[in-house]
Amino acid sequence: MGGELHIVGLGPAGVGAAIAASKMGLKPVIYESMPKAGVKPCGRGVPEVGDLPGRIPKDSIMSEVKGAIMYVDGEHLFEMRGFLEGYIVDKGRMLEAMAVEAGAEIVYRAKYDHKTGEVKLPGQGRVRLERGVFAGGHPYYSGDKILAIQWVMRGKPETPEGMLEIHFDTTIMGYLYVFPKDDKAFEVGIGGFSSRSRLLARLEEFIKSREDLRRMEKLRLEGAKIGLGGLRIGRLNGLVKAGESAGFVLPLTGEGIRPSMISGFEAARAMIEGSDPIKSMERSSMGRAVETQKRILDLVMKLTVEKRRELLKSLTPKAHAEIALGRLRKAVLALELAKSPRAASILLQAL
Ligand SMILES: Cc1cc2nc3c(=O)[nH]c(=O)nc-3n(C[C@H](O)[C@H](O)[C@H](O)COP(=O)(O)OP(=O)(O)OC[C@H]3O[C@@H](n4cnc5c(N)ncnc54)[C@H](O)[C@@H]3O)c2cc1C
Repeated sequence: MGGELHIVGLGPAGVGAAIAASKMGLKPVIYESMPKAGVKPCGRGVPEVGDLPGRIPKDSIMSEVKGAIMYVDGEHLFEMRGFLEGYIVDKGRMLEAMAVEAGAEIVYRAKYDHKTGEVKLPGQGRVRLERGVFAGGHPYYSGDKILAIQWVMRGKPETPEGMLEIHFDTTIMGYLYVFPKDDKAFEVGIGGFSSRSRLLARLEEFIKSREDLRRMEKLRLEGAKIGLGGLRIGRLNGLVKAGESAGFVLPLTGEGIRPSMISGFEAARAMIEGSDPIKSMERSSMGRAVETQKRILDLVMKLTVEKRRELLKSLTPKAHAEIALGRLRKAVLALELAKSPRAASILLQAL
């Protein structure tokens, strides 16, 4: 491999791979098709679980998250404080800073062509990539995808300081969210198993139903697909797929930044060490978390809307957090599920 690790994509997975390369004495070279990082729409919420391969640079933290207020089908469920902390980040700034910190050479406007295995460089040149990590995101994911759409709005909603709002909608197997951006703007979005027009109608209905959101100025509507169909790790020419292109998104929540970064790190670490990167990613705790969440999602999809609601309502806040974050520690879950036998009987089939 020489002294370099070639990486396609300056998203969280590409950055994770760059961090591993740097830790193991290789120079990461990242080819990114866009002129800057973090262009794809994203809620930019990163929970603090302590498992990220690198440190989030302080100046990319836009706000600190202390917890979330959860609702199900319009009904207030509970507030989660103390075990759902994290950050809303300036994703582009975070990715660039972490890549630079890892000593990466970043080549912008450099598009990898998966048919030829070559990167078209911004000038005239081309470079063939024989080995490396492919982290090009959802367009290269072959499993099931849903759509997530969000309005970026000007102003400050009435959501308590430091909290996120999560509104589960059992009919679309998804949720609406209100995420702060900074003091002047925020995002109201929706993701779920439904068509673009239905999701958008549901989002507009939600905004209209809220006095604080109704009066805010809408700045822009944006959206993108999210791959929620579980792991699809493999190779693209000689490159190993990591991140969302390989299915590293938690299927119950759509959280992809942390899983993608961890998988990119794992892929590069294993490659450089000479072990099998595909097996390493599959067997990693994040790989197992994605697969367990996928089994839970499949199970919940078969339930009636009433049963889904009952499940969400009967889980303790701590069990919600444990499952949502993909931590799934047996001792914690056993203790929490013992407090909600109805949820336990449904979930135990998938765990
Ligand atoms: C509306 C929305 C909200 C979301 N909110 C959250 C959230 O709050 N928290 C969270 O954790 N996750 C969230 N996600 C999911 C998260 O954005 C992704 O799962 C995550 O960014 C995936 O990381 P990645 O590195 O695999 O891919 P990406 O972030 O998609 O990065 C891939 C990079 O590769 C580049 N690229 C693609 N093709 C090529 C090519 N051929 N050549 C060169 N470069 C290429 C792209 O330009 C891009 O920069 C959200 C997703 C959506 C759509």
